[in-house]
Amino acid sequence: MAGTSLTLEVVTPERLVFREEVEAIIVPAAEGYLGILPNHTPLITSLSVGVMRYRKNGEIKKVAVSGGFMEVAANRVTVLADTAERAEDIDVERARRAKIRAETRLREKPPNLDYARAEMALRRALTRLKAAGAE
Ligand code: ATP
Repeated sequence: MAGTSLTLEVVTPERLVFREEVEAIIVPAAEGYLGILPNHTPLITSLSVGVMRYRKNGEIKKVAVSGGFMEVAANRVTVLADTAERAEDIDVERARRAKIRAETRLREKPPNLDYARAEMALRRALTRLKAAGAE
């Protein structure tokens, strides 16, 4: 049945972050940003680290997500993310500290450096700062 809105549910292994009726969604899919409007064809995709945006009552909201999956089916969009925070719930100072920590590791390259892990930590921190509008 054709609809005019989407039910967006964002969950992590820890909690239900939110469930809302929305008008449009843009997610950081593995292959690039992907837009979802009502009556989108069914889809499952993996997510990368990035800022998810959605429109509700004409207003754009931002959520920082870090990996996971998204399923679209019958105007229900389920985002199962490794971590997800709404812009207003992001602790900007914490993200700034995480960014500096990761940058320092990547610059100083200690002998036991897990490069991929430090890079992912940096991407999460940059994404949180971007979602919070605090780049
Ligand atoms: P940190 O080093 O500050 O813990 P991290 O990137 O290692 O950052 P994650 O492992 O991605 O943290 O997340 C752990 C938990 O903390 C998740 O529930 C995540 O939503 C939350 N979280 C992480 N950073 C922030 C932040 N800046 N503001 C709000 N919640 C955060």
